[in-house]
Amino acid sequence: MKIHEYQAKELLRAYGIPVPRGRFAATPDEARRAAEELSCRTVIKAQIHSGGRGKGGGVKPADSPDEASAVAGKIIGMQLVTHQTGPEGKKVRRVLVEEASEVQKEFYLSLLVDRSRKRECIVFMVSEAGGMEIEKVAADTPEKIVSCAVHPVVGFSPFQARKLAAALPLSAEQRKTFTDIVRNLYRLFLDKDCSLVEINPLAITADGRLLALDAKVDFDDDGLYRHPEIKALRDQDEEAPLEIEAKNASVNYIKLDGNVGCMVNGAGLAMTTMDMIKMAGGEPANFLDVGGGASPEQIEKAFKILTSDPNVKCILVNIFGGILRCDRVSAGLIQAAKNIEMKLPMVVRLQGTNVDEGRKMLNESGLRFTVAEGLYEAAEKAVALVK
Ligand code: GDP
Ligand code: MN
Repeated sequence: MKIHEYQAKELLRAYGIPVPRGRFAATPDEARRAAEELSCRTVIKAQIHSGGRGKGGGVKPADSPDEASAVAGKIIGMQLVTHQTGPEGKKVRRVLVEEASEVQKEFYLSLLVDRSRKRECIVFMVSEAGGMEIEKVAADTPEKIVSCAVHPVVGFSPFQARKLAAALPLSAEQRKTFTDIVRNLYRLFLDKDCSLVEINPLAITADGRLLALDAKVDFDDDGLYRHPEIKALRDQDEEAPLEIEAKNASVNYIKLDGNVGCMVNGAGLAMTTMDMIKMAGGEPANFLDVGGGASPEQIEKAFKILTSDPNVKCILVNIFGGILRCDRVSAGLIQAAKNIEMKLPMVVRLQGTNVDEGRKMLNESGLRFTVAEGLYEAAEKAVALVK
C-alpha cells in the first residue's frame, strides 16, 4: 500500500526524522490559511501517489498567502503527468503547503527489501547525487550509490550507519544527525512493516541542517492487519478502480496491458494460463483468480470486472472443477453471461468432476462459448479470436 507524502512525513516526524513544517490543503482557501499559519515562504506540492512531480509542474514555490492560494488553485484539479503516472496522468486532489527551505545539497536515502537471491534482506541505499531520479543515477553513475545490507538477525549496526554517512560529504555534526536519521528509519521500517522508505532529496539547508524534503513510504499489504493506523491512511482515489472492486468481491485481480481477459480458479492455474496465452502469441489483459469456490455471484462479479476493461476483446475461462463440479461452474457461467448480457466471445476450458455434462451445457446454451479441452488449445482459440 502507498501513502501520500504528507502522511509519510508525519510518520518520519513521529520517528524523530527532521521534516519541514507543513499543512495539507484541499482548496486554494485552505492553502492560503496554511501559508498564513506557517507565516513564511512556502512550497506547494501536489499530493499524488507518484514521484517526478517536480518535473511535471506539481511542486511550486509561493512567496505569500495570496500566491499560495493562486498556485494551489492551479495545481489542485490538474491532471499531473510524471514518468510514473503514464500519459493520462493523475488528478490532483490535495496539496501539501510546506515551509520553503534554502537547499545547499541534495542527497538520496532509501531503505527497501532486496528480494534478489544474493541478499534477501533489507538494504539501505544512499547517494550524494540526490534530487534526481535514482534510476538514472544507477544507470549513468552507479559508483555514486552506496548500499548496505542489514542482516535480519544481527540487525542494523552502528558501523553500517557510519559507512553510509561516509558516502556523503558531511560535517562531523551532520554525520551525527545522519546516523540518527538512518537508525530511526530502520526502526520505522521494521515497526510498520514497510516495503520501501525513500527520502529524495534529503537536503542540507543553507544553514547546515539535514532535512527530509520529500518522503515516500510503501507498506507490505500482508502486514497491514497489524497496523490499523496505517490502513486508515489508504486513499482509494489513488488506486485502480477495478482493483478496488475486485478486492471488495474477494477476487484477486491485477490489470495488465493485453486483450485476452482471463478468469481462472487458483493462482497457479492463473499464472499458467497467462503463460499459455503468451506462448500462443497473445497478451493477457489481467491476472484473475476467482478462488477455489467460484460461486455464480463471484463469476458474475469477475465478468463485470473483465468487461469493464475496454482492451478486453475475448475472455478465456479456465476452471478446474474439483470439489466444485464442472456442471455447477457451467450453470454459473451461463447465468452470469445472461445476467450481464455478455457480448464478448468466450473460450471455456473445464476439467474435473462432471466435465462432460458441464461442456454439454455450455454447447447447448445458445451463448457465445467456444469449448476447449486442452490448456494450450484454449489459449490458441482465445488468441485466434482476438486476431
Ligand atoms: P518529486 O519530484 O515528486 O520527487 O517531488 P520532490 O518533493 O522531490 O520535489 C522536487 C524538487 O523540488 C526537489 O528535488 C527539490 O529540488 C525541490 N524542492 C522541494 N522542496 C523544496 C524547498 O523547500 N526548497 C527548495 N529550494 N527546493 C525544494
Ligand atoms: Mn523527490
